[in-house]
Amino acid sequence: MERVALFPGSFDPFTLGHQAIVEQGLRIFDRIVVGVGANSEKHGLLTVENRERLIGDIYRGNPCVETVSYGGLTGDYCRQRGIRFILRGMRNTVDYEYERGMMLINQRLYPEITTVLLFTPPEYVAISSSMIRELVSYGNDPIELMPSNIDIKNYL
Ligand code: ADP
Repeated sequence: MERVALFPGSFDPFTLGHQAIVEQGLRIFDRIVVGVGANSEKHGLLTVENRERLIGDIYRGNPCVETVSYGGLTGDYCRQRGIRFILRGMRNTVDYEYERGMMLINQRLYPEITTVLLFTPPEYVAISSSMIRELVSYGNDPIELMPSNIDIKNYL
């Protein structure tokens, strides 16, 4: 049976770190659905539509990566689609604590769903969407932190 994982997040914006998690995830899963959570409008540099478009542009032509946005709880979205794995990335102990808390809640509410946490490669541990938002807000171009061929100006 085909193994499919949902990689959920805010992705505001999607970074080189996120891309590394997708790449590693594809060694485990046949397909990855990158899911932009539409109700976690935490900071809002990019609209949900543009976050989705940016990720779609990175993986255009790759049949193993699908990009979606969804509202509501991640576990409910997985259930609707029959997805049984949630993929997440972990940079440090702060991520670990947060991810563990999410995993424990999801395990209780959706016992059929397994969370898979992957370590971030060392060259990407310092990259965060919030850092990119900060750079952009001061007029800097975060080109080195973004997947190649992505110009954030096309999505602002
Ligand atoms: P959320 O708001 O749901 O945490 P994010 O878009 O910030 O969404 O992150 C989505 C996932 O990607 C999380 O599991 C997060 O830990 C992970 N992540 C964030 N930045 C990086 C990075 N630089 N390298 C690897 N994983 C990362």
